[in-house]
Amino acid sequence: MLNEEKTRELFEQFTTKITYFTGDVAIIGKGTASLLMIPSLIRSGANITIFHDSETKELGVGESTVPTVQKQLTSVNLFIYQLIKKNIASYKTGVRFFGWGDSEKFDHPFGSNDLAFHFYTRDFNKFLVEHYSKNFNCKFIDQKVDKVFEDDGGVYINGSKFDAVVHASGWSENLTTYISSPFETVNSGVTFTEYPHTAYTSTVHRATEDGWQFELPYPESNKSRCGYLFNRKFSNEESILKKFEGRVESYLKWNPRYSEKLIVSKRQALIGNALFFFEPLQAFSTHYYCVFSDMIAEYLGNIGDQKKIDSLNTRYTNLILDYLRVIAFHYKKGSKYKTPYWIDIQKRANQFCPDDITSFRFFTDFDYNIIKNGINGENFIGETLNE
Ligand SMILES: Cc1cc2nc3c(=O)[nH]c(=O)nc-3n(C[C@H](O)[C@H](O)[C@H](O)COP(=O)(O)OP(=O)(O)OC[C@H]3O[C@@H](n4cnc5c(N)ncnc54)[C@H](O)[C@@H]3O)c2cc1C
Repeated sequence: MLNEEKTRELFEQFTTKITYFTGDVAIIGKGTASLLMIPSLIRSGANITIFHDSETKELGVGESTVPTVQKQLTSVNLFIYQLIKKNIASYKTGVRFFGWGDSEKFDHPFGSNDLAFHFYTRDFNKFLVEHYSKNFNCKFIDQKVDKVFEDDGGVYINGSKFDAVVHASGWSENLTTYISSPFETVNSGVTFTEYPHTAYTSTVHRATEDGWQFELPYPESNKSRCGYLFNRKFSNEESILKKFEGRVESYLKWNPRYSEKLIVSKRQALIGNALFFFEPLQAFSTHYYCVFSDMIAEYLGNIGDQKKIDSLNTRYTNLILDYLRVIAFHYKKGSKYKTPYWIDIQKRANQFCPDDITSFRFFTDFDYNIIKNGINGENFIGETLNE
């Protein structure tokens, strides 16, 4: 059960305190992060201009969400069934884990009975751009931004003046001090397609000897978009690429890291991979894009208020550290593979997320117990799963 203190904390984290703001905001980038931030700005009342560079393509990995994203879209009159009808998404009811901890298999359904979805990034993003351009005060401009200049009166991009700018320009950004993840897991991934799919409405998280594999099911097309994830320190890149020879759709490498600040100056903030990226576990990234977008929208009505900047940046750091502890929580029992990767990560997970941490800001008690019992080989009512 939630006690009063926890309830108040959750209220503080998740209640939308978007302030009314009718000024001009620019976003650099039109990837998933930008497009999931736009509803927060629309709700605040801002005029929105989005600069993007058609020479720099969006990351475009198949993506999975949690119900926070569905709520964000509902606020701009978009519903999952529309995406399903257009064949650009599939329903998601939770995550199915194979081989994690002491379980052969366990399910993590969304505790609230809410729904989420998996989507084909390029089609989904195109659909959102059309929806925002047609129905809201959003202008998309295909123009590379080389320089952002800020002074007391405003922030300037390609000759136009704005009240604030949000950088959603992906991994290429180098606008701030980045902190390496204190709990590094996988840092590389090969994406490929599998026929047929394994689960109808669950994202699959399958432990492998090198790390884990995600499978996003699209039952209508009888296929899964998959990613084989590993850490370059423990696994040989060449042998993994060889294993997937002829099937590799993309090969991605990243340095798990986060910006030390969300609001980086009086008029500039970051979102998406420009702000943080750790790993795809549980599709937490898009959840946090929505949470942090609301926090940026909350700031807009208070531009220049240093106390507000400090308190939002502190809230952001606390959420990031909580997020990393939630990731570590999943690794506390290792997996069925006793390889160097899993032995190392299990040891570090128990240091980073000791047993006396019994709740998280983000996870409800329901989520906490599902994962705890799942990795211990039990389901959430305490029955053994491996019979
Ligand atoms: C293997 C893998 C799997 C993932 N799976 C999931 C998942 O299932 N769920 C999830 O929530 N997240 C997932 N993620 C996280 C995923 O990376 C992000 O959700 C998403 O791609 C965010 O991208 P972005 O919008 O920050 O940047 P990008 O998609 O890289 O977009 C950057 C944008 O900025 C523009 N741009 C860049 N520079 C300039 C410039 N100078 N001027 C103008 N425009 C510019 C580009 O044109 C582009 O529009 C996964 C990541 C990886 C690596």
